[in-house]
Amino acid sequence: MTGRCYCGGVQVNATARPQTVSYCHCSDCRRLSGAPVAAFAAFASADLRFTPSKGPRRSFSKGVDRWFCPDCGTQLAATYDYLLDQVYVPLGLLDQANTLAPESHGHTDSALPWLHIEDDLPRDGASSRVRLQEPDPSG
Ligand SMILES: [Zn+2]
Ligand SMILES: [Zn+2]
Repeated sequence: MTGRCYCGGVQVNATARPQTVSYCHCSDCRRLSGAPVAAFAAFASADLRFTPSKGPRRSFSKGVDRWFCPDCGTQLAATYDYLLDQVYVPLGLLDQANTLAPESHGHTDSALPWLHIEDDLPRDGASSRVRLQEPDPSG
């Protein structure tokens, strides 16, 4: 899988498909993305490369580290202390986003009330942390 930030200064390469893909309705993701809902692909750390690099680590909340393109500011990646060995890449960065349909909704208690996504995916009012770390049954 391939991807890039908005300006193209940072390239993303993954040697395997993500372990899972999820929507996140939390207010942090809403502010970071500027969109009514965010979506992320969770890759195994070892499967992911950023070129030339993902740059300096930034942390704005305990247990969460984030990386941004130094030129255009696109969020490149996030890691969570409680989601071991996974790197979360915003879905929109990936060239293959059209093949990466989300598998769950997280933090639906924080969802915007006028946003209606009609699907039968599992929904978690708070964090989907248990679901996110389950191995993908489809491989
Ligand atoms: Zn950039
Ligand atoms: Zn979120």
